[in-house]
Amino acid sequence: MNSPVIGITCSWEIDRAAYLSPRDYTDAVRAAGGRPVLLPHTTLESGEAESVLSRIDGLLLSGGTDLDPATFGEEPRFPLKAIDPVRDGFELALSRTALTTGLPVFGICRGIQVLNLAAGGTVYQDLSGQVPGALRHEQDAPRWHPTHTVSIEKGTKLHAILEEALCRVNSFHHQAVRDAAPGFAVSATASDGVVEAIEATDAPFVLGVQWHPENTYRTLASSRRLFAAFVTAARAGSR
Ligand code: MN
Repeated sequence: MNSPVIGITCSWEIDRAAYLSPRDYTDAVRAAGGRPVLLPHTTLESGEAESVLSRIDGLLLSGGTDLDPATFGEEPRFPLKAIDPVRDGFELALSRTALTTGLPVFGICRGIQVLNLAAGGTVYQDLSGQVPGALRHEQDAPRWHPTHTVSIEKGTKLHAILEEALCRVNSFHHQAVRDAAPGFAVSATASDGVVEAIEATDAPFVLGVQWHPENTYRTLASSRRLFAAFVTAARAGSR
């Protein structure tokens, strides 16, 4: 069986001027039968997004720092962490191009927000400032420990993948999807109503989750099922 090539976007460590990729992403992809390659973000010339995507079978948008509110047409009005304009531009360009080709895309944490923005949706800058009664979505518990529950919408691809209506997830975000993009369905929500997963309704696997399944794939079957579904979709479309 061939190993589909999964491109994983990176973070940027300012102090060392170094790209950073938490190993759990590559390990989770590898455990699911994928061949991980890292995609360091740079500026993109015309045609380069297509060129990168033509060499991979699936795009994994990894977690990381905040999106610049300017990417969704807002002024910074709430607490904001470091932003990375080059990463924003790189990931949004890759995502927009992937959406036109049907390439499998798996967005994780920041990645669900990038995916939603690329497809024309909106994002909350800061849950505690904008969603009254929001749960604590920034846990201090270990990364492998799930701290809140999400309800999975019946009839969605996510429900078919997870085979359960309730799922325990970890949570390391203060931004989140606000309005899902046209052509996308909300497939999971937290008990405070915050969107925790979205999926394109007309693509085999274009899906984002607000949690970090790569940190729990060793212990939670639900996380392994997500990576398995992503890698299977990438294999089905691989050249
Ligand atoms: Mn959460």
